[in-house]
Amino acid sequence: MLGLQYVACDACGTVSATPTVPDACPRCGTAEPTDITDRLGRPAYFAED
Ligand SMILES: [Zn+2]
Repeated sequence: MLGLQYVACDACGTVSATPTVPDACPRCGTAEPTDITDRLGRPAYFAED
């Protein structure tokens, strides 16, 4: 386990994997992207878009 946190922005749909949950979306700047780490579990998630 690398300890990455997965976050998704409800505003623009960006999904990011980061060591720590960011204060704002790196793309659109919306505050507090949603932590979806518990909803994932598969790196393949990124291939679905
Ligand atoms: Zn965003």
